[in-house]
Amino acid sequence: MLALRGDRDWRNDGERHETGPAATVKALVKRASGPGQLALVDLPDPHPGPGQVVIRMAAGALCGTDLHIAHGTFPCRPPLVLGHELAGVVAEVGPGVESVRVGDPVTTETDASFCGRCAYCRAGDMHLCPERTGIGTTADGGFAEYVAVPAGGVHRLPDDVGPAAGALTEPLAVAVHAVVERGQVRPGERVVVLGPGTVGLLAAQVALAQGADVTVAGLARHADRFRLAAELGVTATAALDVPGEIEAIVARAGGMGVDRVIECSGSEEGLDGAIRLLRKGGWLVQVGFFGTPQVRIDLDTLVNRELTLVASRGKRPTSFRIALDLLRAGRVDPGRLITGRFPLEAWEAAFAAAEAPGSKVLLEM
Ligand SMILES: [Zn+2]
Ligand SMILES: [Zn+2]
Repeated sequence: MLALRGDRDWRNDGERHETGPAATVKALVKRASGPGQLALVDLPDPHPGPGQVVIRMAAGALCGTDLHIAHGTFPCRPPLVLGHELAGVVAEVGPGVESVRVGDPVTTETDASFCGRCAYCRAGDMHLCPERTGIGTTADGGFAEYVAVPAGGVHRLPDDVGPAAGALTEPLAVAVHAVVERGQVRPGERVVVLGPGTVGLLAAQVALAQGADVTVAGLARHADRFRLAAELGVTATAALDVPGEIEAIVARAGGMGVDRVIECSGSEEGLDGAIRLLRKGGWLVQVGFFGTPQVRIDLDTLVNRELTLVASRGKRPTSFRIALDLLRAGRVDPGRLITGRFPLEAWEAAFAAAEAPGSKVLLEM
């Protein structure tokens, strides 16, 4: 059912082609802070330490974070190999690793390290650990031929999930965290997903899988995205800059308003629309970043209508497990969101293509 599943024979090919001290691997590296500073370079062949796995990369997806790193507007620590939305095949396992085997098709969580002792880590919220480092953001990532990562975050992909959909497990986990874990969307609830970008359309698929009635909302210029949302099975789409659309959604919800808004647009217009769409007692789940410290929000209406504002950032290990369960059950189709594919060598063209709104670009190794 995934359009990109089984699209090429990529499994059971985990044998390393060259090893030894002289071997190098190609990797896309941010060499220094500031705009640009990206280059494809040869790095020493990674070997797994205790508890580590080396993955021969098959695919990596670009996201907004990669573009921010490219523009020099994301606080990373160069020199750094980019890439955190990843799929590949286990090439080598380090001492003590039993959870995966050489040849397994896998994806990886993005925690490169966390303390394991703080209150957040003990609660399973490793994404909030003050000592956390992230694969592809503050530790080396997987836009490379091979990458070494902690085995604890490496998961075997379900049998019919190919590298493209597999690489999107990470943004799918972000959507799961927002919709299921933070937003607590339940069957039968009316949900509006605001902002039809990649995370928005993944959140819509997760909300549908939860049994919710899902409207994807954006602006009139998002007609192509609305078509895709309709193909993915959402109940309705709405352009909130068309007069009367917000009122129409509220009317469809029995005149009360909807139970949950998953706000993925990170815009004041989206925030304003969300507050007008929600029923009394509804939840606003804020996922999108605004990119500015000062945002106008109608807090009086929030109080008057007893709305709950919930923030959702990134994902936790449990989000990944739920995302993999949804993939395994065929309840979501993240591969449908891929808009372009480029070989690693054509990374410049890939980054240029990823600037287009609504794009989701894959690098293939
Ligand atoms: Zn990402
Ligand atoms: Zn910690």
